[in-house]
Amino acid sequence: MTQWNVKDFVRPHILTLTPYASARSEYRGEHGVFLDANENPLGSATQVAFNRYPDPLQQALKDRLAELRRVSPLQIFIGNGSDEAIDLLMRAFCEPRQDHILIMPPTYGMYSVSAAINQIDTISVPLTPSFQIQLDTVLTNLVPGCKMVFICSPNNPTGNLLRDDDIHHIIHTQQHGLVIVDEAYIDFSNSKGFVSFLDQYPNLVILQTFSKAWGLAGLRLGAAYAHPDIIDILNRIKPPYNVNTYTQEKGLEALSQTAKMEEMIRTILDERQRLTDRLAQHPMVQEIYPSEANFILVKIPHAEKIYHYLLKKLIIVRNRAKVFLCEDCLRISIGTSQENDVLLEALEHINYEAKDFISG
Ligand SMILES: *Cc1c(COP(=O)(O)O)cnc(C)c1O
Repeated sequence: MTQWNVKDFVRPHILTLTPYASARSEYRGEHGVFLDANENPLGSATQVAFNRYPDPLQQALKDRLAELRRVSPLQIFIGNGSDEAIDLLMRAFCEPRQDHILIMPPTYGMYSVSAAINQIDTISVPLTPSFQIQLDTVLTNLVPGCKMVFICSPNNPTGNLLRDDDIHHIIHTQQHGLVIVDEAYIDFSNSKGFVSFLDQYPNLVILQTFSKAWGLAGLRLGAAYAHPDIIDILNRIKPPYNVNTYTQEKGLEALSQTAKMEEMIRTILDERQRLTDRLAQHPMVQEIYPSEANFILVKIPHAEKIYHYLLKKLIIVRNRAKVFLCEDCLRISIGTSQENDVLLEALEHINYEAKDFISG
């Protein structure tokens, strides 16, 4: 992969663009009399002071994350959720109405939505019925214009890891752009993920998020790991202050609480096992797909009806019944043990004999 150069794939006008120079990026010192950013010097209208602009490059957060993931801070982009990184990657690399992306459904919906917003076509190569990559078909689709391949592992909504060998093969073969490996659920899995391969692959981008294992979905904090040249391009086009002060502070606080995060993961994995065992005994459940994530995909006849039955009881699961390869499936996030009991109880009390069991 030695000839691969990011400058050959980024949209030309992004390379020549003069990025916005924010006040806080022109002067980076912490101490001084700050009269450069038109901030309010007196404080905030709230109890907590937020009158100063945040660090545009989130240096403290990156330094700590770099230690934790054993990468360089220059290999990290921090965004307002990983969805921001997905959108920025498309805008940096894909020429609207010309380039396209490749996805492997059933998978996370944001890839194709973000592509559509940016007028980028999506080529779909579905997973196999056992939710693995159709490697040959994917490889033959790695043609010029295919600027990015999205691989979600563990995959949402199926929950399984995709085979490492297949992912390596795709990264090796993709000479026309990037491979994005979305590891939103990696901390719940038995895999170490692809971060340790970053130095080998200049075309690899890994997405991780603070929304799942770290329990910070409401903060909006996501990370992309890639070669410094790719990170540099994302930094050129991102909104200058894309991650707010509070989020940076709380993100940093979370990173000092890894033991708490790990304990939550253990609890969720125990509950995943318990929920799986209990559902397996349910007479109507046809299949519980093996999960390496914090949710399980469950195949159950009349999934659509069961979804509405649960809704009436204010138990909200994700209805995937109409999704290709997920017919009659519900995606169930692992809740607290009490929440999971509520779900199990409701499922045990469905009267399937009733003509319309939704009302039962
Ligand atoms: C939840 C999830 C994300 C996280 O997105 P954020 O914007 O960081 O909250 C990313 N990818 C997948 C596959 C997800 O399921």
